[in-house]
Amino acid sequence: MFEKILIANRGEIALRVLRACRELGIRTVAVHSEADTEAKYVKLADESVCIGPAPSGMSYLNVPAIISAAEVTDAEAIHPGYGFLSENADFAERVEQSGFVFIGPRPETIRMMGDKVSAKDAMKEAGVPCVPGSEGSLPEDPKEIVRIARAVGYPVIIKAAGGGGGRGMRVVHTEAALLNAVTTTRAEAQAAFGNPVVYLEKFLENPRHVEIQVLADEHGNAVYLGERDCSMQRRHQKVIEEAPAPGIDRKLIAKVGERCAEACRKIGYRGAGTFEFLYENGEFYFIEMNTRVQVEHPVTEMITGIDIVQAQIRIASGEKLWFRQRHIEFRGHAIECRINAEDPFKFTPCPGRIHNWHTPGGPGIRVDSHVYNGYTVPPHYDSMIGKLIAYGDTREQAIRRMRIALSEMAIEGIKTNVPLHQELMLDARFIEGGTSIHYLEHKLAERNEVKKA
Ligand code: ADP
Repeated sequence: MFEKILIANRGEIALRVLRACRELGIRTVAVHSEADTEAKYVKLADESVCIGPAPSGMSYLNVPAIISAAEVTDAEAIHPGYGFLSENADFAERVEQSGFVFIGPRPETIRMMGDKVSAKDAMKEAGVPCVPGSEGSLPEDPKEIVRIARAVGYPVIIKAAGGGGGRGMRVVHTEAALLNAVTTTRAEAQAAFGNPVVYLEKFLENPRHVEIQVLADEHGNAVYLGERDCSMQRRHQKVIEEAPAPGIDRKLIAKVGERCAEACRKIGYRGAGTFEFLYENGEFYFIEMNTRVQVEHPVTEMITGIDIVQAQIRIASGEKLWFRQRHIEFRGHAIECRINAEDPFKFTPCPGRIHNWHTPGGPGIRVDSHVYNGYTVPPHYDSMIGKLIAYGDTREQAIRRMRIALSEMAIEGIKTNVPLHQELMLDARFIEGGTSIHYLEHKLAERNEVKKA
């Protein structure tokens, strides 16, 4: 096992990784920007190194500064967390070339999954169900493009191979709009991602977002840890996640999960990963793979009892998976609310000093957050300041516990989205379960209509 790990991230995930290291008896190095000097995990870490000024381009994305921090502190491995450099194949390569272990998949795997066309090809090949669409990228010939779209059937969506973060996509409803949309998306993709390659998919009108968590070691073993439903989204950003996904046949989950584990074995996947699917009319359609730990990993930890971050570290150290699929038991239900420093209804970011921070507790409640009384939320980064997780024997119990926990949560000094979560925990359609990825946007739009009227 490693003796010392450098944590190349900030916020709640830096603290989460630090806690995993401590439990494994591993010493930690926190790297931080000038804006995060006072952060709790920086103080808790065995060592800390300032890697640059507040803007992430000069600190958390500063590869040479991170590598030299690992060199001067004699760290053996680097945990990238999520966001920032976590899915950057060049960074993973630099880490390994500099003699450190990258806690994640091999750079080639990250590269392959970062290109959505090659990711989809690999998944099709491995028997993972994908959204029907073009075979690989779209050709230049306009006649061919028209033929492909007709065969797939309208509406279709044009997507950039290099896209991410919900950008580089365009929905097309009629043939008349097709060629223009392809040209525009190509130009945008070139400008935004330096890669003009686009592909075409059937546009699913009312899907849910359901994803499968996997763990794989470098000895050819892979398991799936069930699914998460992350359909409650605003602007393609997840707001609430839960596991298991309400109302989906367990046999179907097992079948898709096994396909994902098999795909990991086929491509030689290493570490934790997530297969993202759209789910509609009883069918799963792969859209992309995330080659890192996800924000929403705790709901899976709660229902399986498996510590995903510790598993990442143990796998990176070369350990064989210490359990088999048949040993994994899914028990109860877990829900996560992302707590953001933002106006709960206008969604404008709301950084600033938190002069009172009181977190809930009690049976089944978990709070993953780096915030403390007197902490100042810096304006430079993502607005998420923590995650509130509620576990119960049933979904109903998890919801009841979440309502109580939200009512106990006291955050003073800044605005947060806690009131939105309180409203959603009382929302009849959410309580019923199985809402689509458009539900929250529609609900918010309706409320604005009512306000105007
Ligand atoms: P990104 O990497 O930018 O997040 P994804 O491929 O994961 O891109 O797609 C982001 C979101 O776009 C999905 O969660 C879904 O809301 C929508 N989307 C993508 N592909 C389709 C599709 N074929 N049909 C309907 N919606 C889609």
